[in-house]
Amino acid sequence: VPRTLVLVKPDGVRRGLAGEILRRVEAKGYALVAVELKHATEELLAQHYAEHQGKPFFAPLVEFMSSGPVLAIVLEGQGVIQGFRSLAGTTDPTTAAPGTIRGDLGRDWGLDVQQNLVHGSDSDESAAREIGLWFPSL
Ligand code: ATP
Repeated sequence: VPRTLVLVKPDGVRRGLAGEILRRVEAKGYALVAVELKHATEELLAQHYAEHQGKPFFAPLVEFMSSGPVLAIVLEGQGVIQGFRSLAGTTDPTTAAPGTIRGDLGRDWGLDVQQNLVHGSDSDESAAREIGLWFPSL
């Protein structure tokens, strides 16, 4: 059964949205495999966001992602990788559709798309790599 890595980013945890996000995931029917509140190190985040190294938003993104705890979640279910990305909505909350996590709950994004509440793996390969980084024991 496919798995994906979801992160409730520091803005989501800070705003008390972790439970609402878990509720949506469970309502969709995905199974929780692992859930852990973690304060990510810059080293872990640099590996997690390796594909973005060198981009102008990389350093601010790592700083934001280490500004408070994140809720790291492994989900399991048929079609969960694309399914969670559909639940999340587009990267930029200003364009995310109503009914999506970012579309309904994104509100503090301000002037950039950095604070968009959640992360979800974008492929089987990313999911395997990211689950290994965040949950080495799985
Ligand atoms: P995620 O991988 O977090 O689910 P995504 O696949 O929708 O998001 P990516 O393009 O992989 O988006 O970007 C990763 C994260 O980097 C985004 O979720 C956002 O927090 C941040 N980000 C992306 N583009 C920008 C940008 N232009 N300015 C600031 N932050 C950005």
